[in-house]
Amino acid sequence: MIQVAVNGYGTIGKRVADAVTLQPDMELVGVAKTSPNHEAELAVENGYPLYAAVEDRIELFDEAGIDLAGTVNELVEAADIVVDACPSGIGADNKSMYEELDTPALYQGGESADLVDTSFNARANYGDAEGADHVRVVSCNTTGLSRLLAPLDETYGVEKARVTLVRRGGDPGQTGRGPINDILPNPVTLPSHHGPDVNTIFPDLSIDTLGLKVPATLMHTHSVNVQLEPDPADMPSADEVRELLAGEERTFMVQPKHDIDGAGKLKEYALDRGRPRGDLWENCIWSESISVEDDDCYLFQAIHQESDVVPENVDAIRAVLGAADAAESRDRTNETMGLGL
Ligand code: NAD
Repeated sequence: MIQVAVNGYGTIGKRVADAVTLQPDMELVGVAKTSPNHEAELAVENGYPLYAAVEDRIELFDEAGIDLAGTVNELVEAADIVVDACPSGIGADNKSMYEELDTPALYQGGESADLVDTSFNARANYGDAEGADHVRVVSCNTTGLSRLLAPLDETYGVEKARVTLVRRGGDPGQTGRGPINDILPNPVTLPSHHGPDVNTIFPDLSIDTLGLKVPATLMHTHSVNVQLEPDPADMPSADEVRELLAGEERTFMVQPKHDIDGAGKLKEYALDRGRPRGDLWENCIWSESISVEDDDCYLFQAIHQESDVVPENVDAIRAVLGAADAAESRDRTNETMGLGL
């Protein structure tokens, strides 16, 4: 059994912890938190041993009547691997602790690619993480783009990808983020950080990305143009691209019959089907949007920022420890979490 620690029990950390408990080959040693808020109570209710992330905050947990199992150092020491799901930049601060305790670590997309031995996406470069000490599971947007570009590149070759990312201003719980009533080119200069981030997974891919931020919380939306490589005679039809993407494990092809016109209905769909927290782990691709004009393929996809990286973290655990090959790991993760809509 792989002993897994989760340091940082917020949006991503609590989902990863839950997913780890579903794995037949993993055991959650515990989770570390900085404050005794409602999420700390949830961890206790779930039976997850709770550790103090910061020693001088232990008394806050005592005052709140929440029992601690120990400190984060003890948690990390007891684990085979730690998933760091702290806010951006804190993972970098934690790296020396993981090194001192000789525990391999996964970080999230908010950390810099320079921090780690390799960036990771289970569909595109699973093998690169094997035996690595420090691995970054790329951001929600880069995960969504990697899952899309991998099959297109393998099957047809990609001459150039051009993507406009319409990004939610903040997660539903991030009350301090915006914009409130605006549409921001963000960043106003090109490229947005997403293209270079995709290149941490596909070093040779030519990609330009533009970013916008809008007053939404539910999901991101990508407007995608991928210029394909084949000779004109071999250019796929839109139906062939549709079939290719439908055959991928972590895509949800939104069909006209679903009558889903945006993120609101996608989330409703997930909630109606009993998805935990209304999570959508898959790329949600509007089937009708897939078009091929000359050598250009176009589509729209929605990405649930809070959850698409969760199965990737589970796979990255196995990749780092050499516990399964890519297909085996993805299958196990998909089956236990219930991916596939
Ligand atoms: P979050 O703020 O929801 O959760 C972070 C948790 O870590 C909070 O509970 C916070 O109290 C805790 N924390 C703060 N300092 C800590 C410390 N020193 N030790 C332990 N815990 C500490 O953040 P999040 O959205 O889960 O993001 C975590 C990482 O995941 C970031 O790198 C982020 O860029 C990345 N990410 C976030 C999203 C998203 O949309 N939320 C998507 C993909 C990747």
